[in-house]
Parts: sequence; structure tokens; C-alpha cells
Amino acid sequence: MRGDGRKAMVPRLSPTFADLNLSEKTLQALERAGFEHPTPIQAQAIPPALGGRDVIGAAATGTGKTAAFLLPIIERLGGGAPAPKDRPAAAHGKPGPRALVLAPTRELAVQIAGELDRFGRGRHVRGALVIGGVGMGAQSAALRDHEVIVATPGRLVDHLQQGTARLDGLEVLVLDEADRMLDMGFAPQLKRILARVPKVRQTLLFSATMAGEVAEFARAHLRDPVRVEVARSGT
Ligand code: ADP
Ligand code: MG
Repeated sequence: MRGDGRKAMVPRLSPTFADLNLSEKTLQALERAGFEHPTPIQAQAIPPALGGRDVIGAAATGTGKTAAFLLPIIERLGGGAPAPKDRPAAAHGKPGPRALVLAPTRELAVQIAGELDRFGRGRHVRGALVIGGVGMGAQSAALRDHEVIVATPGRLVDHLQQGTARLDGLEVLVLDEADRMLDMGFAPQLKRILARVPKVRQTLLFSATMAGEVAEFARAHLRDPVRVEVARSGT
């Protein structure tokens, strides 16, 4: 619809998802989900993330940060047809996941994995949960052959220590609710994980605030990030 002359006359006060350079498949998934317009954080974070840039996104709870990082991951990884069951993620030459989303709690990880399922259906993007409270075995298998891992830091470190997680092929790292992860004392786990991921990667960091420890963390681990900030109200 980009060439639609009539639409082009309308001032671009509120962008559509189609304005964000998303694929037809993703636009269809958004339509199925009933998402009509991107939220401000989505409108600002998705284009640089699609372009491969590191992004720091600061926005309050409920502003749509999950889709802001999941949609660029799906576009990057989800090229054509869904992966055949017998084709490992190692198709890109390295073992293990191509994208890793770290979240502070199991509940949040479950929620993110659900959103990935919803938006990534029919794409070459299989997501797996790596969280505490459930067995390690199935997770170890998933860590070998799923493209996207949604994990809590503690359980992922358990896998790294056991030798059941390899992150050498990681292309995208997401730190969701980074402020909460640091508040909850996950800095040592994050440090161990960051020591095991490739230096050349894309990092997306989302947080409700960018104060103190998070800012320092972002300075240490992101590369020339695009900063996107959305005020709590009045947007
Ligand atoms: P945050 O991570 O910023 O707290 P979420 O990503 O969990 O926010 O989104 C909050 C709620 O808003 C979820 O129920 C989500 O499905 C919904 N949502 C997100 N983006 C949109 C959108 N563009 N249009 C409609 N609903 C949306
Ligand atoms: Mg969130």
C-alpha cells in the first residue's frame, strides 16, 4: 500500500505497521492478533532493530515492548518456510540458538514465548523455554535445535555449566526488563552469559527506566545503540 497516493496525502501522525518495512507474513500475523497500529515504542524501535542496530528501549509496562523485539527477530530468522522437524538450527553453520531472549521471571518468559508462537507461526522460527522448575532434559534438546530461546538467567547458566547450552551461533540477544533483572540480583548470571555469546551480535535492551545500573550495563554491552524512549503518558 506504500504507493497509494491517497494515503500519502494524509499526514503521518500515526504510522501503520506497513510503514515499518515488515514482511507481508508478519503484517498478516499482526492483523490476526488484532494489532492495528504500532505503539510508540514499536514504531521507534522496530526500524533500527530491523536494520541490525543495537537498540535501547525505555518505556513503561504495557507499552508493547514484547512485539518491539520479537518482530525484528522473526523477520531476521523467519525467512521462508517453517523448519522441517529434522533440520537443526545449525543450518546456519553454528550450533545452538540464533536468538536469545532473557527475562527476569518464569511467568514473563512464558508470556514472551507465547507471543513468539503467535507471531512466528508458519515461519522458520521455533521458540523454546529455558526456565527453572522444570526438567533440564527437554531443554537441553531444545537448546540444540530451536532458533529462539526464551530463558531466565539462572537456568540458562545451569545449562552453560553443564555443557548443554552453546551460544556460539547467537546473532541476537534481547535483555527484557533489564532493570528488573539487575534489581533481582542477576548481574553475575548476565555476566556469565555475556561471556559466552559472540562479540559481534545484535543486542536489544528493554527497560522501564534507564537510570543507574541499567545505563552502566548498556554502556558496557551494547554497540553504538539507538536510544528510544517513550514517556509514560502524553505520547
Ligand atoms: P510491555 O512489555 O511494554 O509491558 P507488552 O508487550 O506485554 O508490554 O504489551 C502489553 C499488551 O498490549 C499485551 O497484551 C499486548 O498483546 C498488547 N499490545 C502490544 N502492542 C500492541 C499493538 N500494537 N496493538 C494492540 N495491542 C498491543
Ligand atoms: Mg514486557
